[in-house]
Amino acid sequence: MQQEALADGEALEVWIDQDLCTGDGICAQYAPEVFELDIDGLAYVKGPDEELLQAKGATVPVPLPLLTDVVDSAKECPGECIHVRRVADRVEVFGPDAE
Ligand code: SF4
Repeated sequence: MQQEALADGEALEVWIDQDLCTGDGICAQYAPEVFELDIDGLAYVKGPDEELLQAKGATVPVPLPLLTDVVDSAKECPGECIHVRRVADRVEVFGPDAE
């Protein structure tokens, strides 16, 4: 799905499947505000206060100004494990399960 297909201001959230993460850190380079590598060498999404969310499937909102960086991360992710979905219906719009 192309970015243009999104409705204006549609709320998105992102999560990482750590089971597939290779730990290369591309996501943390593209969008360090959203992704960070933990000491286990895997990438996690960051919650409020920069806290890394370790729970499986934990999501954080995608800030609109960072949408391009987050989408680029999902596209370049070698593990194909960054999932961006609509908050409203939880449909993946960028990532390996997007149509
Ligand atoms: S880009 Fe993908 S594989 Fe690489 S560290 Fe981030 S989540 Fe893991």
